[in-house]
Formats: sequence, C-alpha cells, structure tokens
Amino acid sequence: MSNANPAQVYRIPAFNDNYIWMLHNPLTKALAVIDPGEAEPVLAALKEHNLTPTEIVNTHHHGDHIGGNEVLRERFDIPVMAPASEESRIANITTPVRHGDRVTIAGYDAEVIETPGHTTGHVAFHLPDCGNGHGVAFVGDTLFSMGCGRVFEGTMAQMWASLSALRALPDQTLICAGHEYSASNAKYVASLNWPRAAAKAHMEAIHALRAKDEPTLPVMLKVEKDANPFLNCDADDLQQAMGMAGADPADVFAALREGKDAF
Ligand SMILES: [Zn+2]
Repeated sequence: MSNANPAQVYRIPAFNDNYIWMLHNPLTKALAVIDPGEAEPVLAALKEHNLTPTEIVNTHHHGDHIGGNEVLRERFDIPVMAPASEESRIANITTPVRHGDRVTIAGYDAEVIETPGHTTGHVAFHLPDCGNGHGVAFVGDTLFSMGCGRVFEGTMAQMWASLSALRALPDQTLICAGHEYSASNAKYVASLNWPRAAAKAHMEAIHALRAKDEPTLPVMLKVEKDANPFLNCDADDLQQAMGMAGADPADVFAALREGKDAF
C-alpha cells in the first residue's frame, strides 16, 4: 500500500551553485534538512514557509554540505544523521548510518546506499515511497543531471559501482542532487558526439531552463538513465562514440570522467 501522506520537497539555493534540500512531512510536521552547507538560506526558507527543522541529514563531509550543521543543531537541538565512517570528519553525528541501513527521514522510510568515489564515506538516501507516486533520492555529489561528482577520494571503479547502484533504483525516483552543474555537464556531453536522441533532448531542455535562470533539479531518474553518459558506460552507443567498443565499463567511466575534468 502506498503512503497516503505526500511529502513536500523544498529546494534551497546556496553558495554559487549548491542546492540544500528539505523534506517535509505535512502530517507529523517533521522536517529534514539535507546537506545544509550554510545556515542562512535555510533559516530564511524556514521563516518563509513557517517550518521548524526536526533533523539534519548529511551525504558526505564536504564543507559545502555540512557547514550549516552546527548553527541549526544548536538553534533547534536536532539530531544529525550522517555516514558512520565520517565520524572523524562530521561533528556531532547522532545517527551514524551504514550501507543497507533502514532509517526514517521526516518519518518516511529510507534506505542507505553507500556511494564511495567523490569521497570515501559518501552515502545516498533512497526513499521508495513519499506518497507522491514516485520515490525520492538524496544523492549528494554522486549523481548530477547529465553528470556526476568528481572522484576525489575513491577510485574510478568505485564511482562507477556507486553510479550503477543509483541507476538500479526505480525509474520514477526523483533525484535531488547537490549542485546545479547541468548546463556545464550538457556542454561536455555535446562534445562526445554521442548519437543518443534522449541525450540531445535533455541537453536542450537543460539549456532552455538555464536561459530562463530556472533550476534543472530535481530530475526524474528515468531521464538520467536515458540521457546521462555517466550512467551509460556499458552502453554500446556510448562506447562506440568514445572509441572504446567492448571495453570494461569502469574504464569507459574513467575516460569519461577524466575527459570532463580536463574539459
Ligand atoms: Zn562534495
């Protein structure tokens, strides 16, 4: 039976191109703040919508994802859910989580998926049923629209495995990612000459939104499965476009990621 209490997702722009996310449970008034890199825009959004946070959730240790934790924690006396492996790099974790853990976020069931690569301890949170007829996933800096996070701490093979784990989620999963990098990602994808109609259509949609200064996130996972080359490293058409037909998908991923790093 599906959840009859639809969650509300809030997107809060922060810094130059970060998104902080909030998930609100209208029935219980629970409100999770996901990756508050800075407190000020969160406090402004709370005031605007007359909401009170009940929990903080972090995907990874980078400052632009946790920098607002302490202000929010002290002001509202709320718990912090974050990767257990990052207890030395994220202060005051009250709910350490590991791969496969079943937790609740704003009262909605969630599964913890370890997604190492961008950082060694990075996790994503998949909520299969928020009452909206689709799932929601908070993916931090692992998956972006038409792109993926830089591989800072893990290996290319780990990042490919992490992206593959996210790709295995249901098509109807709303992807809430940490950065508005879609336009720059789309420019890189255009340079690949990948003959995928869905990729071309998604690039055009992204550029049309950005031309109006509108956000491209959240995005449904089905769109990314069809249009994001970083989720298609085992697809024949991408491998051929890259001159790597039959190659190990992890090697294709590495070439793709290194190409973006140098783009
Ligand atoms: Zn990061």
